[in-house]
Amino acid sequence: MTSEKYQLYVKDTSNCGGLPLTSFERLGPVWSGESLMLPFGVRTETRMLEVVGWSDLFFGSPAPVHVFKTRLDNQVGYLVYGGNSGVRVLNDETEPVEGIDSHLPPGWGQPVIWIEDVADLPCEVAAVIEPQTGTSLCVGCGEVFSLATEGWMEVGDGDLCPDCARQMDEEAGAEIRLQELGLA
Ligand SMILES: [Zn+2]
Repeated sequence: MTSEKYQLYVKDTSNCGGLPLTSFERLGPVWSGESLMLPFGVRTETRMLEVVGWSDLFFGSPAPVHVFKTRLDNQVGYLVYGGNSGVRVLNDETEPVEGIDSHLPPGWGQPVIWIEDVADLPCEVAAVIEPQTGTSLCVGCGEVFSLATEGWMEVGDGDLCPDCARQMDEEAGAEIRLQELGLA
């Protein structure tokens, strides 16, 4: 599958610290909307909070929010980004910081949000950014493969294509045989 580069830059504003111009690999379609609900660890519990995009217009205004599948350091995940001031997570229980973000809706800002598991995204978002539910991206070789093929494998960071899974099995098998023979 071909990927595209997406350049993202977030300004330093009252919403959050910025992000220098960063190039992200876009591995699929983009979902865009006014807001989406995402799970956040608040104190000891996981809470669903509304996330909007943020821009510096009029000292801070909501902007559309977007999501696409990407890869960072060989880990596949989902990038949530907003306007030129990042995104804002809305939470009525967050105390505003006087003189910093007390003029903004309660919550906190971030340049972007990284989501590891597609299950943490709302279904309507997942349906857009992962339309080929029958495929996955191999974390070993970076190739897209069909989940209908036999022999693919789930590992800690994602999925391995049948070829990479077989290779890993063989390596693991060789090690076990060496151990059995007392050679390792
Ligand atoms: Zn592979």
